[in-house]
Amino acid sequence: MRIQTPYFVAFLPVLLASAAPSRAAAQDRTPEISVERLSEHAWLIRDGLGSGNVLLYDHPEGAYLIDAGAPESAAAIARTVDSLAAHPVQTVISTHYHADHIGANPIFRRRGARVLGHDRLAEEAARDTVIPELRWERTPADPAAMPTVRITTPALIRDGSGETIVAIQRLRHGHTGTDLLVLLPTEKLIHVGDVVEVGAYPFIDWWAGGTLDGMIEDVELLLGFVGEDDRIVPGHGDVIGVEKLRAYLEMLVTVRNRARGAIARGEDRESFLASRPTREYDAARGGEEAGRRFASLVWVGLTAGAE
Ligand SMILES: [Zn+2]
Repeated sequence: MRIQTPYFVAFLPVLLASAAPSRAAAQDRTPEISVERLSEHAWLIRDGLGSGNVLLYDHPEGAYLIDAGAPESAAAIARTVDSLAAHPVQTVISTHYHADHIGANPIFRRRGARVLGHDRLAEEAARDTVIPELRWERTPADPAAMPTVRITTPALIRDGSGETIVAIQRLRHGHTGTDLLVLLPTEKLIHVGDVVEVGAYPFIDWWAGGTLDGMIEDVELLLGFVGEDDRIVPGHGDVIGVEKLRAYLEMLVTVRNRARGAIARGEDRESFLASRPTREYDAARGGEEAGRRFASLVWVGLTAGAE
């Protein structure tokens, strides 16, 4: 079934095209797996195709995967997990519904793992819709990629000794409307999904409940409990510390405030973009064109319903 796309899609400029999380044509390429050891029991696994970061946490009572990666990388990810973990993956936790984060879930479910996800994940992942301005065709996910456990409240997982080994924070409306933060307190690691992007501007999935204000709230929440020696695993890109997280928040707030100012002054989108509202951040986040796409995405979200 095709759903109606939101009315404000009509205002989206074609220049947003490459902002969509399609990670174009990844299925035509071969994954080149890289592994980074993050702690005694945890590894970051990447597929070299730009898909979501996979965080493996090995535990004697069963290993955990926070995001399993893209469907085209599933077999390579599974082989890598087998080579690293001493224990089988019993739990996959999905940070949000995008295909490059949940697409490899079925291979782990077939092996007996449970999948934990936001309670709205399956609803969004099941959608069959086209967002023409982004050249993004959302196809329904494999039913075997869907969560077997729906997360509706903050959740703690304790091991047999009573120690908390995983904490899950359910978010409301940041990158998408299906986001989770996943903390591994013993490893001092936090997987934040695509609420945080490193080396690029974030994507705000307005079509699935994401908002810039929500993303800012999520990062503020995160900064409320992240410690100076904690490390943050973003949905894409390199692991960062709290200092870079603060700089990321400052960027989000600055661009939002510039957009709000332009709206209050009655400017249109073109004059807002011409002011180069992302200028000081472009060099570290993909360049001027990437900044223009992000600013355009911000504008669309903040002016929806106002035009
Ligand atoms: Zn995403």
